[in-house]
Amino acid sequence: MATKSGIYWVTWANAHAKNSNKVDDLEITFENGVKTFVKALTDAGATVDISTTKKVIKEHIFFTGLGKLHKVSVNHLRQKKIAVDIEWDHGDLTKSKAGALEMVNGFGLAVPPRSINPPSLTSNHINGKAVDMTIKWTGTIKVKKKDRSEVSVTYSLNVNTNIVLHSIGVSYGVKKLKTDAPHWSYNGR
Ligand SMILES: [Zn+2]
Repeated sequence: MATKSGIYWVTWANAHAKNSNKVDDLEITFENGVKTFVKALTDAGATVDISTTKKVIKEHIFFTGLGKLHKVSVNHLRQKKIAVDIEWDHGDLTKSKAGALEMVNGFGLAVPPRSINPPSLTSNHINGKAVDMTIKWTGTIKVKKKDRSEVSVTYSLNVNTNIVLHSIGVSYGVKKLKTDAPHWSYNGR
């Protein structure tokens, strides 16, 4: 059954459409890469703190309701057996507009005239192909690449410049985005 647009959906999204920090929510190939990479790191004595895996973008819920489906997001919601059934028509144009506006404001969506840029629906987090994580260790440790060869890697405060660590990640299909400290993905973006 459809529920009218408005603050209800903002509350709903805050409760049900949360971002995830579970590796299990990643796309299966990337998930395997992340799991084996993280295991190699922790086996070597590093600590790995995963903050975000899959993101649900609030815009998706809004645009899903508007019929402008974004397949990946919709599939994600379906997998979780979440139905987004928004009734935009309140039977009165003024009320319909007010309901939609409640959601725009509640989600903090940037719409014209505040922004004329469409929301970014392309982050690798959306389809479960990116992970934000902080990797720490002391001194130099030996980490196994996927082919089991051992690589000595020294801790550096700036993970973006630690190309040895990046090369170990690459062997597991986990690539560093060098402009975003915690961000690794299947293609480095
Ligand atoms: Zn990220």
